[in-house]
Amino acid sequence: METTRGRFYVHCPDTSCPRVEDALDHLMGISGWAKTRKCEKTVEAVMAACVEEGKSLYEKGIRTFKLEARRTDKSFPLDSYGIRSKGGEAVLEAVPGLTVDVHAPQGIIEVEIREKAYIFGLAKKGLRGLPVGTAGRGLLLLSGGIDSPVAGFMMASRGMGIDAVYFHAWPYTSEEARQKVITLAGIVGRYSMGIRLYTVGFTAVQIRIKERAPEPWTTVLLRMAMMECAEKLSRRVKAKCLITGESLSQVASQTVENLSCTQSRIKLPVLRPLVGTDKESIIRSAEKIGTYETSILPYEDCCVLFSPPHPVLRGDIDEANKLYEALELDELIDTALQESVMEKCGFPPHIV
Ligand code: ATP
Ligand code: MG
Repeated sequence: METTRGRFYVHCPDTSCPRVEDALDHLMGISGWAKTRKCEKTVEAVMAACVEEGKSLYEKGIRTFKLEARRTDKSFPLDSYGIRSKGGEAVLEAVPGLTVDVHAPQGIIEVEIREKAYIFGLAKKGLRGLPVGTAGRGLLLLSGGIDSPVAGFMMASRGMGIDAVYFHAWPYTSEEARQKVITLAGIVGRYSMGIRLYTVGFTAVQIRIKERAPEPWTTVLLRMAMMECAEKLSRRVKAKCLITGESLSQVASQTVENLSCTQSRIKLPVLRPLVGTDKESIIRSAEKIGTYETSILPYEDCCVLFSPPHPVLRGDIDEANKLYEALELDELIDTALQESVMEKCGFPPHIV
């Protein structure tokens, strides 16, 4: 790979193109990419490459085009205007089915005269955002639902490296439910240079809550336990924040009062990138990222199985903490963490 101002060049044989293209489609921090022809900086070579690109666009079904040119090397005999008009003419002459449309072309042939001449059509939009790794590391609470994978993607798009924790309540939640989370971590991990997924067995914690807590409080207390456990894990994996898929008032446990209870025992910041987003747009994002089809598979999450019919809607923090302390969860959480298992999901092949 080579870099110059504003450009990365990835050299690869044709056989690895599909893998490279797929990697670029998952790469945060680039505004776009294109497969490019490289040629000598002579007018003849550049015109010939424009014609080749025109033919290739035509073969892909494109009928209208325009040609754009940028020249950082001012010693090239044609200026940008000259390249545009001469290149356009050359293409029109050589590819009879193509016509020029400067306002709404189906394809754009771009010519860049830099240290070499680069000619490309059909540039693809990149994911934009910031390169993963530039914004520290966060620990994502990843369930099998629609929201948390999207939340992980959004933080990765702000440059954050992601680890994930999944609380599993076997046998109340099945092995299929766990596999579903592994698949989701694999999909999100493609965008974040991989995810280390920690599965933590939370059955004992959930049973303790069910035995000792008033039923309306069970979900909020479970969330508090998840946060406390995740914070302990974050010290081990050096994460600087927790990330959840919570969205304000989407369900009873996500009212602002209950969110306050949930995070009241921990010091790390809890990032909730979806907090002001409605379900429709979260679903659209999940479809774009590629997690939706997996998220809607029917394996129940532990929270669904244990959710009370009449949950508290506006929990009082002091009461929440009193109830939480009576659960005496420290040892159960520590054991659960010690027994957690880690899987690497979605890492690029050479870093596994
Ligand atoms: P999601 O679609 O992400 O499951 P949700 O709308 O179903 O979200 P909840 O089930 O209330 O909402 O969960 C809220 C957040 O708590 C989730 O987005 C996730 O970050 C975290 N969470 C819930 N269950 C688990 C779990 N079993 N393991 C890890 N994190 C979880
Ligand atoms: Mg859920």
